[in-house]
Amino acid sequence: MEETKRSRDFIREIIDSDLASGKHKEIVTRFPPEPNGYLHIGHAKSICTNFGIAKEFNGKCNLRFDDTNPVKEETEFVEAIKEDVEWLGFKWNSLRFASDYFDRMYSFAEQLINMGFAYVCDLSPEDTRTYRGSLTKHGKNSPYRNRSVEENLDLLRRMKNGEFPEGSRTLRAKIDMASPTMSLRDPAMYRILHRSHHRTGDKWCIYPMYDFAHCLEDSIEEITHSLCTLEFEVNRPLYNWYLEILNIFRSRQIEFARLNLSYTVMSKRLLRKLVEESLVNGWDDPRMPTLSGLRRRGVPPVAIRNFCSTIGLAKRNSIVDIALLEHCIREELNKTAPRVMSVLNPVKLVIENYPEDKTEYFDYVVNPEDESAGTRPTPFTRELYIEKDDFMEDPPKKFFRMGPGREVRLRYAYLVTCTGVIKDEEGNITEIRCTYDPETTGGNAPGGRRVKGTLHWVSAAHSSPVEVRLYDRLFNKENPMDTEEGVDFTSSLNPDSLCTIANCMVENHMKDKEPGFICQFERKGYFCIDPDSSSEKMVFNRTITLRDSWAKMKAKKKQ
Ligand code: ATP
Ligand code: MG
Repeated sequence: MEETKRSRDFIREIIDSDLASGKHKEIVTRFPPEPNGYLHIGHAKSICTNFGIAKEFNGKCNLRFDDTNPVKEETEFVEAIKEDVEWLGFKWNSLRFASDYFDRMYSFAEQLINMGFAYVCDLSPEDTRTYRGSLTKHGKNSPYRNRSVEENLDLLRRMKNGEFPEGSRTLRAKIDMASPTMSLRDPAMYRILHRSHHRTGDKWCIYPMYDFAHCLEDSIEEITHSLCTLEFEVNRPLYNWYLEILNIFRSRQIEFARLNLSYTVMSKRLLRKLVEESLVNGWDDPRMPTLSGLRRRGVPPVAIRNFCSTIGLAKRNSIVDIALLEHCIREELNKTAPRVMSVLNPVKLVIENYPEDKTEYFDYVVNPEDESAGTRPTPFTRELYIEKDDFMEDPPKKFFRMGPGREVRLRYAYLVTCTGVIKDEEGNITEIRCTYDPETTGGNAPGGRRVKGTLHWVSAAHSSPVEVRLYDRLFNKENPMDTEEGVDFTSSLNPDSLCTIANCMVENHMKDKEPGFICQFERKGYFCIDPDSSSEKMVFNRTITLRDSWAKMKAKKKQ
């Protein structure tokens, strides 16, 4: 599938010039998730950028798990992240774990002590904060700042050997407590955490801080361009400081804007809360902005890649309208999804003058957007199902669907005229009766007859009940994080984001399809078979409706 053409953004321009000047012969990037949750569509932007750039420039991209904080990390997340990256369509050059470098990081720390650039500090976390000062106030030197190299080495080794409790000491870089750059005011390098790590077990009880670890990881892997989100801009001086002082491979950090989407939240921490408090049905709930949720919902990976290249890379944070993502999904599915007739809210339609034992087959166009998809035979019989809301007993003039005495077209089949209804004791319609005109095969209207309405239908004898899950936006608010003080973001969860309908009728040939199969239910939207399906009952997720508000909005603007 042809993807949207990328324009030259500021990162690609930097890379162009680094290659032209001979600074680098080969581009190496990395995608560095922390395995503390499932990936979301914000990560997709980073994945498409890092892997996409490596591919375009014939370079390499590593998948690196940034697993330096044992408190929140789990192997389950490592596996889920690998699956998601592959599903999005990318292959890593090399699979790495930051924890593989713990020994090397530790020797870099000792090296910095030996060079007089690091010290063990006994200030409490509160005092450390006070000593740091603020943007308008210089920091104050720690009373432990001038310990000797020998004392520092001894203390660090004892920290590593587990002699001290958590929070009692840190290893800090010795830079400048008066620096206007806050990140350079003697930042912490190591902290004590008596925790088991998902890969190194109990080998370590000191763990490196992100700022110290990340630049070393990049340097060890000889990452040429370390692409990250804007919030790391303030840490760039520190990133460069470590690499310069240690005189090791200089990776270049470049920041770009995070992706934020309207009507959802985009942080593993917040998504994790939704999962842990059972506010959604797991990480792969189809309402979640996670890649596993989008996959389960039926969103094709190419739609996500196209979305990411459409939004591009910028230097300013903003909120992207979720309608743009939906537009990319529809564009893709319209081209690729086979059409199917299914009735979500069925009522029986009986054709009085159609023979009881007859079955006819009409040629059904599988995808009008894709000639190669061809046609398939669709069975037609005397008893059908149509949508309840395609019928009105007392229809207004503009209602072009079915009503007593009115003629409508049954898609691909015949014109039929409603003759009446049968009701139960409570007055509910249980059956609609009609007659068909045998001269109208294929839905033709001979003699200039004007028939406006075309209804979809299924043959009662050739369809089965299924469950359908309809989804709406997860939050009612455009920006769920924009709350009054003390109000939690979960307060704007949309209580109607999931609507389950039992006993929808779909054509029987769908039974051969596997979970993940995506199709269009004509007039109703795009649907995907859910893994909850069993041989007794299939379950379909509605990926998205057919109406495209984004395309409409664009068209309006042009006018
Ligand atoms: P979260 O808050 O969801 O945990 P994170 O930045 O802490 O996000 P990481 O696992 O550290 O998550 O992220 C891996 C990479 O993905 C980082 O380089 C990060 O900058 C990038 N990333 C995370 N969220 C977004 C986003 N919304 N848009 C673009 N890139 C993102
Ligand atoms: Mg993080």
